[in-house]
Amino acid sequence: MDGHFSYFFRSLQTLKSIGAKTKNKLTSLVGERVVDLLFHLPNQIIDRSHRPSLNEAQADQIATLDIIVEKHVFPPKFRKVPTKVICHDANHPDNRKLTLSFFRANRDYIEKALPVGERRLVSGKISVYKNDLSILHPDYILPLNQAHQMIPFEPVYPLTQGLSNPLIRKAIDEIIKDLPDMPEWLDSEWMRQNQWLSFKESLRALHHPTSTILPENARKRLAYDEILSSQIALSQARVKAKKSHGFSLSPAYQLREKLLASLPFTLTNAQKRVIQEIDHDLKEPYRMRRLVQGDVGSGKTLVALMAIFSVIENKKQAVLMAPTEILARQHYEKILKYVSEFGIQICLMIGKQTEQEKKRLRRLVAFGDIDLVIGTHAVFQDKVQFKNLRLIVIDEQHRFGVAQRLALAEKGETTDVLAMTATPIPRSLAMTIYGDMDLSAIDELPANRKPIETILLSDQKIESLIDRLKKQIECGAKVYWVCPLVEESEKLDLMASESRARMLKDYFGDQVGLIHGRLRSHEKEEVMHAFSDSNGKTKILVATTVIEVGVDVPSATIMVIEHAERFGLSQLHQLRGRVGRGDQQSHCILMYGKNITPTGLKRLQVMRETNDGFQIAEHDLLLRGAGDVLGVKQSGLPAFRMADFVADRDLLQKAITEAKYLSDHPEIRKDQRQTLLVLFDRIPKPKHFFAG
Ligand code: ADP
Ligand code: MG
Repeated sequence: MDGHFSYFFRSLQTLKSIGAKTKNKLTSLVGERVVDLLFHLPNQIIDRSHRPSLNEAQADQIATLDIIVEKHVFPPKFRKVPTKVICHDANHPDNRKLTLSFFRANRDYIEKALPVGERRLVSGKISVYKNDLSILHPDYILPLNQAHQMIPFEPVYPLTQGLSNPLIRKAIDEIIKDLPDMPEWLDSEWMRQNQWLSFKESLRALHHPTSTILPENARKRLAYDEILSSQIALSQARVKAKKSHGFSLSPAYQLREKLLASLPFTLTNAQKRVIQEIDHDLKEPYRMRRLVQGDVGSGKTLVALMAIFSVIENKKQAVLMAPTEILARQHYEKILKYVSEFGIQICLMIGKQTEQEKKRLRRLVAFGDIDLVIGTHAVFQDKVQFKNLRLIVIDEQHRFGVAQRLALAEKGETTDVLAMTATPIPRSLAMTIYGDMDLSAIDELPANRKPIETILLSDQKIESLIDRLKKQIECGAKVYWVCPLVEESEKLDLMASESRARMLKDYFGDQVGLIHGRLRSHEKEEVMHAFSDSNGKTKILVATTVIEVGVDVPSATIMVIEHAERFGLSQLHQLRGRVGRGDQQSHCILMYGKNITPTGLKRLQVMRETNDGFQIAEHDLLLRGAGDVLGVKQSGLPAFRMADFVADRDLLQKAITEAKYLSDHPEIRKDQRQTLLVLFDRIPKPKHFFAG
């Protein structure tokens, strides 16, 4: 096995077919190791077997032409015009002629490569000006008996800046020539079904194509290898992270029943199912690491609260962490209302509290006098010590980076982690990003919800919209009015929302409120309160996207989004989810600017057609790619070199199943599997292996 690794992991510097300069350039292009170059796949194939006559040759095609050199035309010295070599068709002398042009060509070179009267094959990109055929700097000039030097289907590699394609090919050929046979790690039946080749043959097929189309079955196989290796690594991480802490909690039936009895509704089946999944985790003596995905308004808070109850009833502490202070406070107030008579101690910890207040709270927490701490991440930045922390709930998980999540999970060997997210991520993607966690989905909305009606409206019609809003507000409606980010600039962003608020005040007077990221947190609270409170004066809340996450004002029924075309679909869905939270019919008005593109309009139509966050996320994935769906660039998405999230979605489910099967059967293809993981950098090379 080590022999294979030394083949794949040796430095590119050990190659013999290319010079030092090329090696260094290659290293900065692809990486240091032979395997890095092997995984650098061509993105285009030139068909050198295309051999038209001179009359058939067409502009902008790459073609190989069979010619006889007629004459040389060298430019007068110091003139910046090209050397020209005039040729005629070797098989049809009456056809039009071909001119080969060379700038700064050495006379000796031309006379040697293209002697007058000799027959040659020349290959390159054809230009046609009027009826004159020419090739500037042909890629190949060969006598017929050396035609084999030109392979019929020539792979072209991406990003070859400063590196010529032939040099990359030379280096790759040297590697491909002696590729070792690898023990097969894939299931043979699965390979047969897909008509896949071995790892080695797939690499060969991709680097030495036999037609103008990259062999898709070879690429798919390598993509699958890559996805499978990441799934195996994630499932190993999951097993490791879930290791036993030896505590087992039983569900808090008493507290639960008390709360449920006091609610005016019953849990949805999806909520019940997820609660059971969490109960199961808590009952087992291993650490829980579970991600609950649920569309906006699916009732995640209540689900989390059920888990929190179990912890509290077992005399342990819990933390509920929210991404913003508004949201933390909202959770605090809501939960306080729920449990005010349960004899449970909860507190709110946010950054802006006085040092004295924080100190007091910290002391209470340290003594175990607080059962549940609700706060922003500031809770964890400070030196908060718990007496008995058992559960960490992370709300709106997607707002926190992967690193933050992992750091939290490190907090204490005995803590369980329950993460919640309202960003529906296509399952495939979720498995890749959160593959180290178990997944639950609340895939059902409470029955009393009426689907939000979505309307597309040109921003030229803003006046008529305002007229309609007037009537609605007279009937008691509350409206969110979202202004989009202006080129990522917080300042311009603010100006846009301020000027919109001023304009709306002309119509609605002091019924207009404004909230944005620059307000201090007590100011934000005041603004929110004036909007959410039934006696508050604010009926239209103009906002930047700060309201995106989690805010719950059930009486708000209208959402207006300006320049909706500037938002991602998933983000629009999040914003829209701020309404439709009560039992009244809600509306979402997506306004678009006059420069909207047809695709932009199509995206907005998706919003009009469905309220299902998962469907919207799928569309987003197809339209914008994985990074954008997640909203954050550093989403922690592992780098994939072969696999493409959109093209290879079909492979993910199989890889997930296979990884699970393998983790249940550790003895099956054990060594082969290790090889796969090493090859794709999912685990380090064996220690005793020395990279040469
Ligand atoms: P999200 O999943 O977006 O965090 P919340 O937990 O904020 O949703 O719940 C949204 C609203 O739905 C809250 O007002 C909550 O009280 C209510 N709710 C939760 N579960 C149900 C249910 N089963 N039936 C009706 N309303 C519910
Ligand atoms: Mg929520």
